[in-house]
Amino acid sequence: MAKHIETILAQLGNRSDEETGAVSAPLYLSTAYRHPGLAQSTGYDYIRTANPTRDILQTGIAEIEAGDAGFACSSGMAAIQLVIEGLLQAGDQVVTLQDLYGGSYRYFHARQQAGAYQFTYCLTEADLLERLTDDVAMVFIETPTNPMMVTFDIEKIAQKAHEHGIIVVVDNTFYTPLRQQPLALGADVVIHSATKYLSGHNDVLAGLVACRGEKIAEDLTFQLNTTGATLAPFDCWLVIRGMKTLSLRLKQHEQNARAIVDYLKGQDQVGQVYYAGHSGMVSFELKDLSKIEPFLANLKIFSFAESLGGVESLITYPKTQTHADIPQDLREAYGLTDHILRISTGIEHTDDLVADLAQAFDQLA
Ligand SMILES: *Cc1c(COP(=O)(O)O)cnc(C)c1O
Repeated sequence: MAKHIETILAQLGNRSDEETGAVSAPLYLSTAYRHPGLAQSTGYDYIRTANPTRDILQTGIAEIEAGDAGFACSSGMAAIQLVIEGLLQAGDQVVTLQDLYGGSYRYFHARQQAGAYQFTYCLTEADLLERLTDDVAMVFIETPTNPMMVTFDIEKIAQKAHEHGIIVVVDNTFYTPLRQQPLALGADVVIHSATKYLSGHNDVLAGLVACRGEKIAEDLTFQLNTTGATLAPFDCWLVIRGMKTLSLRLKQHEQNARAIVDYLKGQDQVGQVYYAGHSGMVSFELKDLSKIEPFLANLKIFSFAESLGGVESLITYPKTQTHADIPQDLREAYGLTDHILRISTGIEHTDDLVADLAQAFDQLA
């Protein structure tokens, strides 16, 4: 029976332990597994290679992202590193976007400096499509982008990329598999910072990868086992528990985001408002730069903190936080000026969030 993603999420880990009938995923901390005999294995030998709790999460992300295999890593950045180092050869060219998570940019830049790979940064979809040639090994995108909320057409990019034998990687952290399934749209690899929406409670650092195709799955399996940045069992368990409520949380994140977008559009101290249509991520321009600091100080429900996708509403100043490592001229070229603030709506009552913004603006006037 084909199941909806919501059902798979709510049931993650249930029926994984036939012996006890445990409904919640069992947590296996054991690092070593006794062999039934010489040249025999239960399927588990040593924790870096495989762990039953991690398997539940890996199988789960593969299923909800329509992939053939899944991988659970110690952070979103470890997931990105797994894919880059596991699938590229020295000297390979990667086409990516300028409007990228700051940490991804920092990592790409460092690898290029070290002489490992070449990265080309694009602003528009037309520019990106044009750069997909036989010389390129991988295209790496985020859609929508962070924090400018620009969306890219995964299907179109994957089609052109595959004509040239290019691996297509999508960071799906912002939309989650409930709003976008990159593999079903033609991508080869999908990455999540599961620290954000998937776990959803601002209490665990984790990265997930799902992929299509035997060769990519084999390469990533080898790389994760070899380099070892796997997600610890208890953290796997926390992510599994968080994912069970993702579909409910996302509805409230989105309801709150839509109300905030409406409010901000009518607030005359605000310039442009950026919202991609799904998720709880909203960016906006505060017209008067000198008001950024008092505005943040005035907020009573939003926390001034750098993360996203959790039940608590957060507000970020990308210039000094998430995107501090992107040079100013590069940032400003795609609209990420010093005026931009980024909100991640939590699941609080909509009216309370709008009221908090309103009182913070009122005190500035
Ligand atoms: C946070 C984030 C990452 C990095 O993930 P960590 O779990 O913090 O290592 C990568 N991509 C996006 C879009 C993110 O928001």
